[in-house]
Amino acid sequence: MHTILITGAASGIGAGLARELAQSGHHVIVSDRTLDEARHVAAALGSEGLSSEAVQLDVASDASVRAAVGSLARPVDVLVNNAGLQHVAPLEEFAIERWDYLIQVMLTGVARLTRAVLPGMRARGFGRIVNVGSIHSLVASPYKSAYVAAKHGLLGFSKVIALETAKVDITINTICPSYVRTPLVDQQIAAQARSHGIPESEVIDRMMLEPMPKHAFIGIDELAGITQFLISPAARNITGQTLVVDGGWTVR
Ligand code: NAD
Repeated sequence: MHTILITGAASGIGAGLARELAQSGHHVIVSDRTLDEARHVAAALGSEGLSSEAVQLDVASDASVRAAVGSLARPVDVLVNNAGLQHVAPLEEFAIERWDYLIQVMLTGVARLTRAVLPGMRARGFGRIVNVGSIHSLVASPYKSAYVAAKHGLLGFSKVIALETAKVDITINTICPSYVRTPLVDQQIAAQARSHGIPESEVIDRMMLEPMPKHAFIGIDELAGITQFLISPAARNITGQTLVVDGGWTVR
């Protein structure tokens, strides 16, 4: 069983992955910007007899990443780069500080944490890195320039690190889901309903699910299952790849 460090694990996909991976017997390090929120998730897992701990880890901060990784009692076998956030605005109205912060969290932050755990993985001769990308690693939507740029960049980053780690039993891959029902998406549904003056059900049906031929949200259980596969021996030669979970969006 592995020790799995998940970023942004106090909410949404990260919290769901933490639960499913812990239920499979792994030790999960629940990390997030705010320690209390990470503790809340880890405590819930602990109360179910699952193995987990919480750590404060802000992926946008060198000092926080150094302190968090330095504080861990167990070596990290698997890193899940999941932390993320959205900001929706036309480029001309997109504050550049905000733009930079999204890149910091979802691209530079991934590099920052990956480089912090790689020496340990190399020393032990094993490591698995799973990035949570997005359908927006492959296609664009208007007003999401920072998010789309960061998520596209993640694919290039992963390909480079796949090459840099090829001589060791380390892999890095990116899972790219379309919409998953989490607080991040609920905020977008509410915002779209307000700005278009339509009910939330219409935003879901016409805007969110419309591009997906399967017309369904992606489940966290699907992302957990793919993660389990990627960290299994069967996937040891799968590296630098993009796994698209989009209900058929990109085959249209
Ligand atoms: P969420 O808002 O529920 O959770 C995101 C988590 O990231 C939060 O707990 C937040 O505190 C954390 N976070 C933000 N900035 C951070 C930082 N600087 N350091 C550490 N943690 C930080 O969102 P979610 O939907 O669960 O998103 C998780 C990941 O999945 C993101 O990378 C997102 O881009 C990606 N994703 C989500 C969807 C979707 O439909 N929900 C689809 C594709 C990809």
